[in-house]
Amino acid sequence: MSHIAEAFFALHRGLPRQGAGSDTTTRHLLGQVGPLPTRPRILDAGCGPGRSALLLAEETGGHVTAVDLHQPFLAELDRAAAHRGLSDRITSLHLSMAELPFPDNTFDLIWAEGSVYNIGFDTALRRWRRLLAPGGTVVVTEIEWTGTPSAPARSFWDAAYRLREHAANVEAARAAGYRTTHHWPLPDSDWWDEYYNPLEARITEADLDRPGMREAVAATRAEIALRREHGTDYQYAGYVLRPENGKNRMNWNTRPETPADLRAIREVNLAAFPAAGEADLVEALRADQDAWIDGLSFVTEAEDGSIVGHALLTRCHIGGAPALALAPCAVLPSYQRKGAGSAAIRAALEAARALGENTVVVLGHAEYYPRFGFVPASRLGIRAPFEVPDEAMMALTLDPQRPALTGTIRYPAAFGV
Ligand code: SAH
Repeated sequence: MSHIAEAFFALHRGLPRQGAGSDTTTRHLLGQVGPLPTRPRILDAGCGPGRSALLLAEETGGHVTAVDLHQPFLAELDRAAAHRGLSDRITSLHLSMAELPFPDNTFDLIWAEGSVYNIGFDTALRRWRRLLAPGGTVVVTEIEWTGTPSAPARSFWDAAYRLREHAANVEAARAAGYRTTHHWPLPDSDWWDEYYNPLEARITEADLDRPGMREAVAATRAEIALRREHGTDYQYAGYVLRPENGKNRMNWNTRPETPADLRAIREVNLAAFPAAGEADLVEALRADQDAWIDGLSFVTEAEDGSIVGHALLTRCHIGGAPALALAPCAVLPSYQRKGAGSAAIRAALEAARALGENTVVVLGHAEYYPRFGFVPASRLGIRAPFEVPDEAMMALTLDPQRPALTGTIRYPAAFGV
């Protein structure tokens, strides 16, 4: 981290919040979400010290997975959660909100106050959509113009983050697949009471001899001065967003394999790969009692009931603890690029989650697997037992309440690695 970035964090350490907001606003936005399940699964993305994570856990009775890239904020959140008896309902994870290693349909509510600007409103909404369970909602706050801005406001924000007007944000949300069901400009006091006022007090005590601190203080002063002089030009606004129906995805039928499918599964694997290695691997794994788990070999059926795709999860170990390996995945060539493979993979991951499994690894194309939530395994502290490009060895956690396993992968013997 640069000296300036470190100085920024030093200036911000221990503040009640790390952006505009208030408990009143969090409660208001939560009230607009509508009915939630009894124990909703909530993601707080860019949680900072976790003011909203704590409140959401308390008010909903659910479980909050809170992610941030700044570890000291997560430590502050963990302490506050322990203090309020919420430790078992808040899991803090050191992860980027841009790449979340969770499967589809993981959360009933995704929350992000004062943080989406880090990866951009549009990127955040696109990447999070698959994470929403049916009936799920996204709530974010975003800075936006209130009208035509003055020149100083325009030049300040153009250098920091491209602001749009409300109508353009609604349109961007629509393009990302959401309907805006509520729009709520935060009151001006949300900028001051728990953010700029405490921050200004910090500035007066800042150690200006610390490397980077003069620059951090100057930038912070400029931002606060802009708010004082031109604050009516821009606002933070809460957006309550619901995914539009009609995901443009073929509705494939998937199911676990049955004994009658074995021949067809072999055919699919033979047709999908240039040699018989994968077809033989499936059979060797099926014969290996330590590797095979009933119910985690999934097929995709065409309309006539014939099998066109297959995905397999078997038992591997990471750092000696049980995990799952996804391999192989195969689709008949004439059915490729139509979602038949993804459907089998999603179904297998869903079944694994229902069995209480957590960490899954895959070796494969770095352009393909991230759509299911796989991230480079190295980022979760997982290593391949052989030389492999970092981005090709990927991992995913099925249950965000439990941390991923760490260590080196040990594959079943059938893989021959
Ligand atoms: N939601 C909190 C914090 C807002 S400040 C609040 O309202 O108080 C923005 C936060 O985003 C900071 O904590 C910062 O560390 C975090 N952040 C920045 N980039 C991130 C990323 N890519 N993924 C996750 N968190 C990120």
